[in-house]
Amino acid sequence: MLVTLNELLQDAKKENYAIPATNVDNEHNVRAAIQAAENKHSPLILNVTPVANPDLVLFGSICRRLIEKANVPIVLNLDHGKTFEQCMLGIRAGFTNVMIDRSWLPYEENVKEVKEMVKMCHTLGITVEAELGHVGIGENYQHDGNTAFTRVDEAIEFIKETKVDALAVAIGTAHGVYQGTPHIHFDLLHDLSNALPIPLVLHGGSGTGDENLKRCAREGINKINLSNDLKRAAINNLIAKDLSGNEVYNLYPLLAEGFQKKIEYFIDLFGCANRV
Ligand SMILES: [Zn+2]
Repeated sequence: MLVTLNELLQDAKKENYAIPATNVDNEHNVRAAIQAAENKHSPLILNVTPVANPDLVLFGSICRRLIEKANVPIVLNLDHGKTFEQCMLGIRAGFTNVMIDRSWLPYEENVKEVKEMVKMCHTLGITVEAELGHVGIGENYQHDGNTAFTRVDEAIEFIKETKVDALAVAIGTAHGVYQGTPHIHFDLLHDLSNALPIPLVLHGGSGTGDENLKRCAREGINKINLSNDLKRAAINNLIAKDLSGNEVYNLYPLLAEGFQKKIEYFIDLFGCANRV
């Protein structure tokens, strides 16, 4: 069943666990992610990025159709809506949460654009996630891994001003593949979690390490974005198959199998199993 981010994250915040937000880009991995959540009796968030799915209306409608048939609650999240147009297409496509990323802009402009999006989305019954501080990319991690953290005082003000539903915070993770070892600033996470009234989101979950992610899920993060770790698991599942026989092989089910198993693993790791 299709739900908004608020409907899931309020419980996660109260009970101290995190929900995996899995990047999907085709029908097979959408089905695999939903199956993982159903097997684990877990809520789920499907992340769709405009970069991987330029036709948001088409792919959004496929996701919606599959989510509506699921027996666990699932959010259809537009991940990193970087332009006004992308966010509008996401709304039209029926996404139940919009992540509006204006984290590279100066604070005042970030507030202004997020506030406008919140006003529109809330009118339509859609929830909104924004980002404050900036989660960079892994390739630059060694170079700028310690800059652009989320500030507690700014975050308090940002939430009051924008009325956003969830906040992506920069506490030491990065998108993509890390160059260097990820260092998570748990003290900052504790300060943010204690000071802020809304659920917090971790971007760049892949490559961050199981112990770090498990602690984040217990200590204040309620949504963890995962992309590359799932793709790697899917490809490894394919590589591990014995292809020496004279058979017909189905590529996508093999990839989806690895994808699904890894999501089930993260559901357990984040304390999200049996939360439905
Ligand atoms: Zn992200």
